[in-house]
Amino acid sequence: MGKTIICEKCGGHYDISLVRCPYCGAGYLPAEEDEYMDSMEEVRQDLEDSVNRSEKHIGKSVGLIVVGITAGVVMIILIIMLFLSLSKEKESEKNRQLKEEFLNDQQITMDLGDEP
Ligand SMILES: [Zn+2]
Repeated sequence: MGKTIICEKCGGHYDISLVRCPYCGAGYLPAEEDEYMDSMEEVRQDLEDSVNRSEKHIGKSVGLIVVGITAGVVMIILIIMLFLSLSKEKESEKNRQLKEEFLNDQQITMDLGDEP
């Protein structure tokens, strides 16, 4: 005689080797119980795993979002800087042209002025 188990129905204690509760006659199959417990454990572990996986997945997603936002911000800053430098270049080019034109005008004026 081995372990004593407690009847789920009436709470009576009886030997595990007995298939039915001697007090209320409720069926009790330890093998079934074990199987049930095993499947429950499997379900629990599956749930835990899926929770862990989703947590990891969420962490990954958040990381990707952060990386994406950072990359996006960096891209925007680079584009703005490029745009600014381009417009500055254009501006300086414009200024240079204006200066040249002005100098040419001055030259012409001076040339004209030099003439008697
Ligand atoms: Zn019982």
